[in-house]
Amino acid sequence: MRLHFLGANKQVTGSRYRLEAAGLNILIDCGMFQERPFLKRNWNDPPFPPESIDFLLLTHAHLDHVGLVPRLVSQGFNKPIITVEPSVDLAEIVMLDAARIQEEDAQYKAKRHQKEGRRPKHTASPLYTVNDAKKALPLFRGVKFREPVQLNDQVTVTFREAGHILGSAFLEIAVKQNNATRRIVFSGDLGQWSTPLINDPTPLDTADCVVMESTYGDRSHKDAGTIEEQLANIITDTTQRGGNVVIPTFAVERAQELIYYMGKLIESQRIPTLPVYLDSPMAINVTELFHRYCRYLNEESRCNFEQRQTPDLKFPSLRLARTAKESIAINNIKGTNIILSSSGMCTGGRIKHHLRRDITNPNATILFVGYQAQGTLGRQIVNGDPEVRIHGRHWPVKAKIAQIFGMSAHGDRDDLLHWLTAAKQPPKQLFLTHGEEDAATALAATIKEKLGLKVTVPDYEQTIDLT
Ligand SMILES: [Zn+2]
Repeated sequence: MRLHFLGANKQVTGSRYRLEAAGLNILIDCGMFQERPFLKRNWNDPPFPPESIDFLLLTHAHLDHVGLVPRLVSQGFNKPIITVEPSVDLAEIVMLDAARIQEEDAQYKAKRHQKEGRRPKHTASPLYTVNDAKKALPLFRGVKFREPVQLNDQVTVTFREAGHILGSAFLEIAVKQNNATRRIVFSGDLGQWSTPLINDPTPLDTADCVVMESTYGDRSHKDAGTIEEQLANIITDTTQRGGNVVIPTFAVERAQELIYYMGKLIESQRIPTLPVYLDSPMAINVTELFHRYCRYLNEESRCNFEQRQTPDLKFPSLRLARTAKESIAINNIKGTNIILSSSGMCTGGRIKHHLRRDITNPNATILFVGYQAQGTLGRQIVNGDPEVRIHGRHWPVKAKIAQIFGMSAHGDRDDLLHWLTAAKQPPKQLFLTHGEEDAATALAATIKEKLGLKVTVPDYEQTIDLT
């Protein structure tokens, strides 16, 4: 058995692995690279013939796990794409949105280059189009958690709850060879325990080899204070200054969690009844999926949805901005507004327009509620860069920059250890991926010290034989 590491190695986006096992060529995730220094990789041909892949298994529908699927299909891949039921619909929304953003950004860029008299670059054409994304949809097959799926007579895959976003899974691949069964587990992205809306991660059970994420491998979320407290303080403070609260948010999960918290804070009068704009057609569509798949939510949320028959993720001052016209209209509204818009790391989409307007206003707050990868506009702002480039122009950062940590869809160091040490026996091989080098190596050191396990932090395009 052989494992090829093809993304999210010593960085956090572009998750992709190729597993050769029992005559099968299995691709696990096919994510987009989103950090500026790695964007070029999205344009490279994959380091394998796309038509040689037998199955594509997806852990969950975040862009950095599914974002290159349409490109792979346009390059010749046409085999089943297997994932958990809600992830089929989520992936459709995520891929179509990505395609649309790329088409729009490419158009915008081409126009700007033309105006500036520059020659067009290859990145001025989209990575893939809406049509490419639509061609991927018929290949999707939705399965349930805990149901083993037979890939051939020797290999099965079981999807188990990862507690990260709606429908997110870790994969347990069992390979029968010479009367023995070996289990390889891909953690996907692992969530925190006791979060609103979704279930806790299922603890790891049995594995010979584990590939585990390490996004927050060097951090603890615990000392940050409650999310509600942090949100209430930042919003109240900004209301007094009279500016907007602009929140770059991931359309999947984070937006729904924020709506959940805002509704709660307004209802309990801990913040004034401010207009809350959800300015992202994608986040609006995803919120609808939470209603359709409420059986996948945790017990509290499931009960709320089923018994009240009214959506839990709605409150009177929540306004949905679907069209571009509705989005632009937000700019003319006076007073303090809370604006949730994507993308979450400010790499594209409508958030850039809101940032351009509010980042120079000392009364406004730009509030970050999620991980900001190196090389993204979000990271530059969080890092305190005095000036940032948006839409080809430089803008001085005068708004207040705030950050809330505990809201991460990723577990922290203790959560990751908690999940890993639940295994009946320690794995023989452990690989840490999906974390910047500092985070991955710090977690490797902690695991070596506490558990005495051999840990590898693989490099991009490294191949390892599984023992
Ligand atoms: Zn994720």
